[in-house]
Amino acid sequence: MLTVQSFTFNPFQENTYVISNNQKQCWIVDPGMFDDREKAQLFEYIASKQLVPQAIINTHTHIDHIFGVQAVVDKYNIPFGIHEKDLPLLNVAPTSAAMFGCDFRLVPQPTFYISETTPLMLGEDEVDIRFVPGHSQGSIAFYYAPGNWAIVGDVLFQGSIGRTDLPGGHFDTLINSIRTQLFPLPDETVVYSGHGPATTIGQEKKYNPFLQ
Ligand SMILES: [Zn+2]
Ligand SMILES: [Zn+2]
Repeated sequence: MLTVQSFTFNPFQENTYVISNNQKQCWIVDPGMFDDREKAQLFEYIASKQLVPQAIINTHTHIDHIFGVQAVVDKYNIPFGIHEKDLPLLNVAPTSAAMFGCDFRLVPQPTFYISETTPLMLGEDEVDIRFVPGHSQGSIAFYYAPGNWAIVGDVLFQGSIGRTDLPGGHFDTLINSIRTQLFPLPDETVVYSGHGPATTIGQEKKYNPFLQ
């Protein structure tokens, strides 16, 4: 069984997640640690639980979701996976960072691509990949049916949806991704978003003003 631990990092209040299994293997999702204090917080959690990181997997590659990738690679020497369609976005990270007044020059390159046609395995636990473009061209969600949860990045938030005004964003595509890839999940599915509190599919179907 996989469990999820959440952290909130960096000036964008981004949610980083650690997914772990019973054998103490883990993935780090969207490592957004910005300063040494935040890096220490994540590394201390991993050490205290005696977890062994296997990979970094990203829902997408906006800067707030990749600030901490290099630190994790340096610390654990593990692979970094993204959807191939988010590679162009990753490569403009220095420009985007400068726009927000952040200095970010060293862009870590992915070592593997995650495809919606191939589930990811953490030990014996299988996580489904949902392709959910619209906030970025290569956004993906990680869905784990046995635990009733999905990590959706910036696609869907409690009462809101992801921005579509950034490069690669497209409103109709985003709405379509949510309707066809996320809303068919069971209502009780817990939705872990890239920002803000967790919600459920059922709650967003009922109350999300963008999806009525
Ligand atoms: Zn984003
Ligand atoms: Zn974000």
